[in-house]
Amino acid sequence: MPELPEVETIKRDLEDTIIGKKIADVEIGVAKIIKEPSPQEFIEGIQNKEIKKILRRGKVLILKLSAQYLIFHLRMTGQIIYGNKDEKSKVCFLLSNGRYLNFLDQRVLGEIKLVNDWQELPFIKQMGPEPLEEEFTLERFQQMLKEKKTKIKPLLMEQGFIAGIGNLYAAEILFKAKINPSHPANNLTLPEIKRIYPAIKKVLRQAIKYRGSSVDTYRDARGEKGKFEQKIQVYGRKGKPCFECGGLIERISLGGRGTYFCPQCQKG
Ligand SMILES: [Zn+2]
Repeated sequence: MPELPEVETIKRDLEDTIIGKKIADVEIGVAKIIKEPSPQEFIEGIQNKEIKKILRRGKVLILKLSAQYLIFHLRMTGQIIYGNKDEKSKVCFLLSNGRYLNFLDQRVLGEIKLVNDWQELPFIKQMGPEPLEEEFTLERFQQMLKEKKTKIKPLLMEQGFIAGIGNLYAAEILFKAKINPSHPANNLTLPEIKRIYPAIKKVLRQAIKYRGSSVDTYRDARGEKGKFEQKIQVYGRKGKPCFECGGLIERISLGGRGTYFCPQCQKG
């Protein structure tokens, strides 16, 4: 499932290719992906509109058009691929340069919306800080953790707590910080918080550098796999030896999600 580093990679790819292009036309293969407005209004709203800017908030990709915004939720298996027309495309945008922006989605859980003001969308208003922005300071993180009795791993994945982190990166962050995923958030000591905070930034930055992880269906905007798998320490490695201590990686269920960790390295 695409998380912050994957969506950021797509954003950067598209910044190099589609800014300044106009959307000439759109083919809607699966109507339910277009959440708002109606398909007719959607088509009329985007035709001949120039793509001005590309934004990302959490795991959401946003294309700024002349006056409105196109919002893409990739959810589990969504892909945005620029280039030739892909016959498997669920929604396919034809651009003014004759190339296509394909929205592919095996499980069809993704969504596209056309809205006037993206910042007014309720789920955007409720979203926590962007972990790679300056607004996310150590002091703020400390403050955010204070009242939270939940376990740290599911908390890191809550979009209302911090934006953009999902199952894979939450596991990798806690391994880097040497913190047990079940540790209650409000019991973390200052030295422990001081390990998690930089681990969040480092893991996400490194994953962006390696263009994300393709452990499932993720592809970048060129249709290529990310290379962060080679850097993964715990996610998906149940029963395999820990790269640091040689002990075996375990998998438990936390908040309904498979959670990978090294019981020897992550005692904090
Ligand atoms: Zn270990």
